Amino acid sequence: MSIRTVVWNEFVHEQENAVVQGIYPDGIHNTIAAAIAKDGDISVSTATLGEAEHGLAQERLDETDVLVWWGHKAHGEVSDEIVDRVQQRVNEGMGLIVLHSGHFSKIFKRMMGTPCSLRWREAGERERLWVINPSHPITQGIDKAIELPNSEMYGEPFLVPEPLETVFVSWFEGGEVFRSGLTYQRGAGKIFYFEPGHETYPIYHDPNIQMVLRNAVRWAYNPAPAWKDVSKAPNVPIDQARETIEKKGASLHKAGEAGYR
Ligand code: ZN
Repeated sequence: MSIRTVVWNEFVHEQENAVVQGIYPDGIHNTIAAAIAKDGDISVSTATLGEAEHGLAQERLDETDVLVWWGHKAHGEVSDEIVDRVQQRVNEGMGLIVLHSGHFSKIFKRMMGTPCSLRWREAGERERLWVINPSHPITQGIDKAIELPNSEMYGEPFLVPEPLETVFVSWFEGGEVFRSGLTYQRGAGKIFYFEPGHETYPIYHDPNIQMVLRNAVRWAYNPAPAWKDVSKAPNVPIDQARETIEKKGASLHKAGEAGYR
């Protein structure tokens, strides 16, 4: 088995900000990719905003099982055509993992259908991500909680649809809480939103965070063939159902005459 995974990053902060550059000299995407590649069953490559078609040509997406998304500053520069394409692939069965400030990415808002807004504060606060579902595949290997000494606070209300599952809830030093690990299903695709990952803290170097990312890729992987006609709504000719309907026809007709029409 090889789960074909692409880590996408807008790759802007790392080229503009010396602090971010110091933490992620090769870009956030390469740190995340290296962390995920420690799982021998996952094959990882990266893509960035500046590449042709943001590195997400149709042929490449067709061969991607799980897409990981990090964006912040350049959400507006992501082309709507590529967002359409990614959405289609998620509906067909590609997994999608949206990280941190990706809550405001076009693709996440598209998949959620809500504003995806939240409260935030950048003050280097301690964060504790409590495992609230210890039997979930994504939390395996994590003992009770992940502790991050410095993190950006993301707080409720987080305006997303009620998730399929909540697997982490975060506490922040300043007192706020946040649903920091949420799963969704859209079409045939599984989606995981994971909150930690502010660019000026070395969060993706944390071994526990890395373990969650590997677990999440495995969880989001759907081995079934792509559901290619997911967007079609075909008419079904009556001939295919006539015999069954005709058997029931008499009683349905009587019910109709009795006042159900
Ligand atoms: Zn941030």
